[in-house]
Amino acid sequence: MDKVMLITGGSRGIGAATALGAARQGYAVVLSYRTEAKAAAQVVRSIEAAGGRALAVQADVAQEADVLRLFAACDAAFGPLTALVNNAGILSRQSRVEDMDAARIQHILQVNVVGSFLCAREAVRRMSTRRGGAGGAIVNVSSAASRLGAPGEFIDYAASKGAVDTFTIGLAKEVATEGIRVNAVRPGVILTDIHDTSGEMGRVERVAPLVPMQRAGTAEEVAASILWLVSDEASYVTATFIEASGGR
Ligand code: NAP
Repeated sequence: MDKVMLITGGSRGIGAATALGAARQGYAVVLSYRTEAKAAAQVVRSIEAAGGRALAVQADVAQEADVLRLFAACDAAFGPLTALVNNAGILSRQSRVEDMDAARIQHILQVNVVGSFLCAREAVRRMSTRRGGAGGAIVNVSSAASRLGAPGEFIDYAASKGAVDTFTIGLAKEVATEGIRVNAVRPGVILTDIHDTSGEMGRVERVAPLVPMQRAGTAEEVAASILWLVSDEASYVTATFIEASGGR
């Protein structure tokens, strides 16, 4: 049977690196994006140029109708899903909690937490042996921020990743006998565009010396952990985390 991976937020950063790596391993890849159609199309072109199969779908993970459409597109293009990477995630400008309004906090939680739930729900409906599926693997992209708390920067984001961690543990146990493994990766400071949203130019350069390995990580280094968790090499690994954070 074909291996099929759906990666949310696959147009850039960690998601794009995961898509490219998965395609090299023989997965047919569906990658979603929110607005950057050109970047997503470029990832698809790179995969196809190397002989792989890929499809880009515009879908906001915060919108249930979009998530349903995304998974239906995956079914139609490549058949049964074998792996989901819940990668799409956002942060907001650096702020103390006392200056955060409700709309900001709700938006972060809607994308990072509700979006991950909705996508995982659709994956479980397709993968669970209890529902006639053939099993599979889910990897949630959390953050080292869930342990560190991100004080003075984005505690809302850190707390959303704390929710993703708890979701990972609970869902993994819920579907453990149904052929589905659920794990998470906690990246540290990774060289991607996400830091631009923080409002601090040079955030990565400021934080990198605080990392025991004294450098930021690459999207490819995180993708390698994601792809290992999805792989059969990790067949007895569920409800756990890989810290891809250089020791931070
Ligand atoms: P990025 O470079 O900013 O890329 C974000 C991706 O998510 C893009 O593909 C974007 O699509 C997509 N996206 C954003 N909002 C979305 C939505 N509502 N619905 C669907 N897709 C959406 O981010 P990244 O650094 O690779 O981060 C990926 C994941 O790693 C996130 O969950 C992030 O929290 C986590 N993480 C990153 C770091 C880091 O230092 N980079 C550290 C810890 C954890 P468009 O291209 O269309 O905008």
